Amino acid sequence: MSSLMGRMMRMPMLISSLLVHAARHSADTEIVSKRVEGDLHRYTYRDAELRARKVAQALARLGCEAGDRVATLAWNGYRHFEIYFGASGSQLVCHTINPRLFPEQIAWIAGDAADKVLCFDLTFLPLIEKLAPSLPSIEHFVLMTDRAHMPESSKIAGLLCYEELVEAENGHYAWPEFDENTASSICYTSGTTGHPKGAVYSHRSSVLHAYAAALPDAMCLSSADSVLPVVPMFHVNAWGVPYSAPLVGARLVFPGPHLDGKSLHELFEQEQVTFSAGVPTVWLGVINHMKNHGLKLSTLRRTVIGGSACPPAMMRTLEDDFGVEVIHAWGMTELSPLGTLSKLKTKHKALPVEAQRRLLEKQGRSIYGIDMCIVGADGKSLPWDGRSSGDLLVRGGWVIDGYFGRDESPLQEVDGQLWFPTGDVATIDADGFMQITDRSKDVIKSGGEWISSIDLENIAMAHPAVLEAAAIGCHHPKWDERPLLVVVRRPGKELTREEMLAFYEGRIAKWQIPDDVVFVDEIPHTATGKMLKLKLREQFKDHRLPGV
Ligand code: ADP
Repeated sequence: MSSLMGRMMRMPMLISSLLVHAARHSADTEIVSKRVEGDLHRYTYRDAELRARKVAQALARLGCEAGDRVATLAWNGYRHFEIYFGASGSQLVCHTINPRLFPEQIAWIAGDAADKVLCFDLTFLPLIEKLAPSLPSIEHFVLMTDRAHMPESSKIAGLLCYEELVEAENGHYAWPEFDENTASSICYTSGTTGHPKGAVYSHRSSVLHAYAAALPDAMCLSSADSVLPVVPMFHVNAWGVPYSAPLVGARLVFPGPHLDGKSLHELFEQEQVTFSAGVPTVWLGVINHMKNHGLKLSTLRRTVIGGSACPPAMMRTLEDDFGVEVIHAWGMTELSPLGTLSKLKTKHKALPVEAQRRLLEKQGRSIYGIDMCIVGADGKSLPWDGRSSGDLLVRGGWVIDGYFGRDESPLQEVDGQLWFPTGDVATIDADGFMQITDRSKDVIKSGGEWISSIDLENIAMAHPAVLEAAAIGCHHPKWDERPLLVVVRRPGKELTREEMLAFYEGRIAKWQIPDDVVFVDEIPHTATGKMLKLKLREQFKDHRLPGV
């Protein structure tokens, strides 16, 4: 028996349609960008869509053909936004490279992806001039600026000027229709756990993710919002914000390279930003700046914080002192990136505030489109009781099923279905709130028991003299590993090892309290702003714990 087919139009979900929608239905909604050149640039969705068409024409003129990779090394700004749509929309693949990676890693990634064109901001001219000889696949280097800012001479032969390329086109271009499963963009994992690997998103997965991210229990975006993604467009497509904003017709504010607390605060205020998104480290800078200068936030009402665990102390400060609702989110490159966000259900509204907060501090509930499970060491799924902790696996329409150019499948079978193992360890409660206890590699294994490094860090971060803290496992002859706390003190504050350890009393089981504390000037971070524990473990591998 053949099934009855639906009689609906078949419109492929293509990234270009997001911008076309915004250009038609939110034509005069603004996109504001703080430029690398220093000034503010303003235009509208209508202008952006026209220029994205010109970018598509220019890329075709450079010889790009379907499937070719167009790399970017750029901050959040309108030109980067145009390339997102101009490249993907014309069936090319936009490959956003993280400029904070080591130069050798950048060259490795560009080679692995076989990028054909590289578009980069002025900031990175010296870097690319040095790196160009190690980028053999790149046929065209495009500097994302106008003629006035082009260098008089450059070591890069045939360096092209972005504005000249765009202005040479007439925009008479119709966005092509093609299979929605075509690759739209590539993003490499930041490599905290090995060689970077490319996640290849499709048009369909990106549009589905954009829909889901905008939902009320997710980012809750609407045309009434003014959205400032602090999270870079080279960090998992700025968590999908550049797609979700045109989908709902929200105003966009791009901060360019100006990501310090002062610049961000100024832009939040000047541009009346209502919603933002970023990793905890950027908020450290903004909060410090506001506290030091007695400043407030007059329009910012919500922010998504994720990428690494948001310390509860930070959530409270933003909410209580600055009136900003923090939406804690979890995700990863392989998930485009959103997996879960923490929003209360109606029944939780009756709980005491402290109990509500404990729920909101978790990484949250999965959005429709993502399913999750936790499994024990035997690979069998564990109950959702909020206590059983195991390896977290996910499946869904915007989860990878393999990496770029690699044959082996990362997927794992659980209860007859294929799932993607996230490398995180988590609990899930009966209401579906997932809580990451650790990254499996960061868990501190003490005498067969696991200690969550995130718990230890969250407690340390609640101490007023602590600016940043990392807990790592340190070798112990009897217990195998014991926790060592690495602390950066707040400038001008005193804190001794004994005071820090005393702070743990009553806040965590005695056997989980760190054995030792070391003070450092700085904690190393990855290119996406996460604490680089691999480096810390190396640095302190010979550390002698007291009594050992
Ligand atoms: P990489 O995997 O290379 O570090 P990603 O940006 O994809 O780069 O990082 C994903 C990882 O970041 C997750 O697997 C998880 O360990 C961590 N992470 C993301 N969000 C959170 C969060 N809210 N709380 C705790 N950990 C998080």
